[in-house]
Amino acid sequence: MRSVRAYAAGGAGSGVDAGPDSGTAGPAPAAGADYHDQPAGHWIDDHIATPMSIYPEYRASRQSFGLNVLGTLVVELETDSGVTGFAVSTGGDLGAWIVERHLARFLEGAELTGPEDIALLWDQMYRSTLFYGRKGVVLNTISAVDLALWDLLGQLRRQPVHALLGGAVRDEQPMYATGARPDLAQQLGFIGGKMPLHHGPAEGEAGMQQNLDALADMRGRVGPDFSLMWDCWMSLDLPYALALADGASRYGLRWLEEALPPDDYNGYARLRAASPESVQITTGEHEATRWGFQLLLEKRCADILQPDVGWCGGLTELLHVTKDADAAGVLVVPHGSSVYSYHYVMTQRSSPFAEFLMMAPGADRVVPMFDPLLLDEPVPRDGRIRIDQLDRPGFGVRLNPEVPLRRPYRH
Ligand SMILES: [Mg+2]
Repeated sequence: MRSVRAYAAGGAGSGVDAGPDSGTAGPAPAAGADYHDQPAGHWIDDHIATPMSIYPEYRASRQSFGLNVLGTLVVELETDSGVTGFAVSTGGDLGAWIVERHLARFLEGAELTGPEDIALLWDQMYRSTLFYGRKGVVLNTISAVDLALWDLLGQLRRQPVHALLGGAVRDEQPMYATGARPDLAQQLGFIGGKMPLHHGPAEGEAGMQQNLDALADMRGRVGPDFSLMWDCWMSLDLPYALALADGASRYGLRWLEEALPPDDYNGYARLRAASPESVQITTGEHEATRWGFQLLLEKRCADILQPDVGWCGGLTELLHVTKDADAAGVLVVPHGSSVYSYHYVMTQRSSPFAEFLMMAPGADRVVPMFDPLLLDEPVPRDGRIRIDQLDRPGFGVRLNPEVPLRRPYRH
């Protein structure tokens, strides 16, 4: 490879002015890979229970405690002959610094002829950042580089990524929708709907009742056979999670997602052991690397693992996680991430369905998850992604030249 470039977009913490009239710090919301970076009024920031909900002043909005500070990271790779590959993740300026000032040394001048070259580069990026990495933004960044390498390999071979992974095991992928309106998702053809939980332990009995009332209401709208799930976004403690799972089992909740903080492996093990059989326990969205997921598997923390391919270490690492999960008989249903997970789930028997994030502000229609950053981004039709929507080389998407990107660091 001849060169690597890292760009950022959006990010309320970037220090870039939004403009004279905005009255806020940071650039205007840009969505893109940092899909939490949305304007006011979006369902994704409507009083959702979080680990910060114990502080009343940070309860109404996730942006109030800085969920949108990071922004989007774009990594672009170019070969000596001018072929380019790219990928996006969350990480913004911080991720751009890591790529330009640290990881570029491994990439520029490296060979890229097959997946084994990507595995070697992944190993060098991971080992060289152990002293400050292991999870979080560093792994988001390694994920973006890894995905850009897979995209570039696909461009070089003129093959879609799913073909590089050995080929699809099914022609179409059923999907569930994440958003505030499972009843509308049902009409759009999705197989289930996952709602955000709105009230955490600090809101007491009244909050608990409001949660259960909301579930009962949605169950009434969708009927008995449509899957309903709850995303708790790390907001609960063990007693509350157990009580919620118990109460929710009366309304046929299919799973309780990310109920506890990700480091509470023992809590997850106890929750899964003690919650009703009919309510599955799922987690992994904020976990990274094979070693993190190995802990979840060893302690039997979850019925379904939900790695985000843009955060867990990329496609290369997701393949390791999947091998371990397969051996343990645990499903792998990645978190969001659009094309970056579509190409993967199509090739995996342990991913019988997938997640689609409803990014329309009212969760009432299907829009591309990374809009407006990517062009040609496929979306589910009738709640399904079909293999012929994934037939272009690499991940099959292009950067939208009209989205302003900045290159905050160079090397
Ligand atoms: Mg989630």
